[in-house]
Amino acid sequence: MPRKKQTKRGRPKKQTKRTKPKKTRGRPKKSKRGRPSKPKKPKIKKISVQSPKGTHDILPENQKYWIKMRKTINNVAEEYGFKRIDTPIFEDVNLYIKGTGQSTDIIQKEIYTFKTKGGDAYALRPEFTPGIVRSYIEHGMKKRPQPVKLYTLGPVFRHDKPQAGRYRQFYQFNFESIGDQSSLSDVQIIQAFIHILKRLKIKNFTLYINSIGCPICAPEYKKALVQYYRKHRNDICVDCKKRLKENPLRLLDCKKTKCKNIIPEAPQVVDFLCDECKEHFKETLELLDELEISYILDPLMVRGLDYYTKTVFEIWEGDQKSEIGALVGGGRYDNLVEMFGGKPTPAVGAAAGFERIISIIKKQDIKVREKKKPEIFMVQLGEMGKRRSLKLFEEFRKKGIRVGEAFSKDSMKSQLKAADKRKAKIALIIGQKEAIEENVILRDMTSGNQEVIPMNKIMKEVKKRLK
Ligand code: AMP
Repeated sequence: MPRKKQTKRGRPKKQTKRTKPKKTRGRPKKSKRGRPSKPKKPKIKKISVQSPKGTHDILPENQKYWIKMRKTINNVAEEYGFKRIDTPIFEDVNLYIKGTGQSTDIIQKEIYTFKTKGGDAYALRPEFTPGIVRSYIEHGMKKRPQPVKLYTLGPVFRHDKPQAGRYRQFYQFNFESIGDQSSLSDVQIIQAFIHILKRLKIKNFTLYINSIGCPICAPEYKKALVQYYRKHRNDICVDCKKRLKENPLRLLDCKKTKCKNIIPEAPQVVDFLCDECKEHFKETLELLDELEISYILDPLMVRGLDYYTKTVFEIWEGDQKSEIGALVGGGRYDNLVEMFGGKPTPAVGAAAGFERIISIIKKQDIKVREKKKPEIFMVQLGEMGKRRSLKLFEEFRKKGIRVGEAFSKDSMKSQLKAADKRKAKIALIIGQKEAIEENVILRDMTSGNQEVIPMNKIMKEVKKRLK
């Protein structure tokens, strides 16, 4: 008697009556040629998708630059004693309006803001400094040994006009030294950025430096600047007319040709510095001289943000300022912590953009190595070969040996080609025969010599050859 099928729980399974497939009414539909017609594929509604303007993908082939950048930044930060901090990508919009400054381009034109359903107003960070200063205050870092040296990296957002070197989402790295008023901190920040550029092997860059004074001396300078520009009122652009009222220092940043012509004759801030600012600037320059860091005094450089006091600096590629813009920008901001409700705390920091630096690495044809090449490469033929290869792949990976594979490929030729392309030293070939006989063909990718090795000896053999 045939045994009844058992279910998992041990009870015999009820035999279900097999039913014949239902006959469809009428004859099956046939195509014109007499064969049954294929069911029609439903039409897919297509939409065109593109990355938002001013953003970009970092494709696998470009990742080596980004990996190199991050590694270099992390190493230099560690050497100079900067600790990593990560702050949110969005913050209260007021943090930037008050910190970065109401009259700056960032707030006037570039900031991305949004409101939550609950009515909170946030902004995507257009820069790191206000967020880091907020964190310094919020976490009582004033109680830690000063200066608190922090660094970070990640995306920032500015609704800028997209062009070469100018994106709407771009990546910055940022170093801040909070809690020290000495010029040593200014110089150490400059030094860290110079070392990052040097370690990335960037040739030929220039440091521009200036001091824009403090709330005691800066107003006198602003008055003189306004007086000078009033005389040229009819020769400046509409934006500059606004700047003249709201933020006169920004007049010196205008890129329009007619305004650029007026800048060289403008009064210079160094002539207005108070004794303390003068001394601080002198010390900073002396320290740079001592460290043999060359620089250009740029008496008309003011930088775009409201919080700067005393030192401001930029690093540009080449001997002249070019279209692509500064690689690094930074300065001292002695009043920002207090402005955000903290105790008076001097600070200095700088930021640089990944994209601009990477574009220079490419332009200067600096070789950046790919991630480590696999040492061995699995080549498989047939179903059994594929299974054994997959298992062996795991065994090697667990032992810390770098393994490459092209499991999606079936032909030996294309897999060996892939192994060659990835510069593997050894290829391990497993076909149906090898799988059955528990063997592996070991191919030396340099000489092309092949040997059959028993599967249980392959690990030892590979390790011996990779030594
Ligand atoms: P900033 O915060 O404006 O001083 O900029 C610091 C650095 O960030 C610059 O020197 C550039 O390297 C980079 N950067 C600024 N704006 C952009 C942008 N729109 N696109 C790409 N990189 C930028």
